[in-house]
Amino acid sequence: MAASIGTWSFGLAAVEAASRTLETGKDVVSAVEEGINIVETDESVTSVGLSGLPNSSGEVELDAAIMDGYSLRFGAVAAMKRIDRPISVARKVLEESPHSLIVGEGATQFALQHGFTLQPDRSEAKPSSEESHCHDTMSLIVMDKKGNLAVGVSTSGAANKHPGRVGDSPLPGSGLYVDNKVGAAAATGDGDDIMKFCCSFQIVQYLKQGLDVQSACDKIIDDIAERIGAENMFEVAVIAMDTKGRYGAAGTVKSFTDDKSSIQYPGFPYAVWHQETEPLPKILVQPPKDLLPKDTRIT
Ligand code: ASP
Repeated sequence: MAASIGTWSFGLAAVEAASRTLETGKDVVSAVEEGINIVETDESVTSVGLSGLPNSSGEVELDAAIMDGYSLRFGAVAAMKRIDRPISVARKVLEESPHSLIVGEGATQFALQHGFTLQPDRSEAKPSSEESHCHDTMSLIVMDKKGNLAVGVSTSGAANKHPGRVGDSPLPGSGLYVDNKVGAAAATGDGDDIMKFCCSFQIVQYLKQGLDVQSACDKIIDDIAERIGAENMFEVAVIAMDTKGRYGAAGTVKSFTDDKSSIQYPGFPYAVWHQETEPLPKILVQPPKDLLPKDTRIT
């Protein structure tokens, strides 16, 4: 049963595009790529693609990754400048490179060698301090009707980050993970903290251990809160899908305002489509999770 889930309200366009790609008979990796491309090239999205948040030098550095649940092949780029559609570059890394993760100037060079065009230098085009969001990744999971899964992520990362800073998003197991035999997961939020918990790999392991998809999402958030204390919790949201296309989401996001529509969501908005249960893609909102009380903290 074909299905898709994507982070944030801007993920609706990605989920819709991914479903259309599947309808044309293309594979799940293409559906992830084409879904994310829509958001990467939407100038109104201020946290993904070259319209994204600049670093402390005023430059936009992009991170993206894609993973195929059938082969476990992985491709990623990080801190890449002046190339649009970074998820497509990540796919080239997956398909046409012996490597898995290429960063910085090397990523831009790789993109140019694979037919991408150098985009204008937008240095200091806008002050990052005035952005409405300080981060937010487009993370997208797609399943086709045969049960093949793929996942991808694309982001400009944390606003005002140090040049060269890379978050959780392009790191396998942190920002994303998928295994056709078990399921898929992806994250968004404060990547410098998320990467300490390998959230996406852990969710897939919970699915493997038999947890249902919503419980697996809830459990990783509880795990983190239990380890560091609810009072130290950071912004994180996760999405996941099992091998039947059932989805779940959890996180600490209290509210989110959509750049384009100005709609304010009381929690973490995410987009879903499931051929049987949600045939029309739509946005759901996950309220912030009630976290375990302080006295459960492990010291
Ligand atoms: N996780 C991303 C990063 O830290 C940003 C986000 O998803 O909000 O780079």
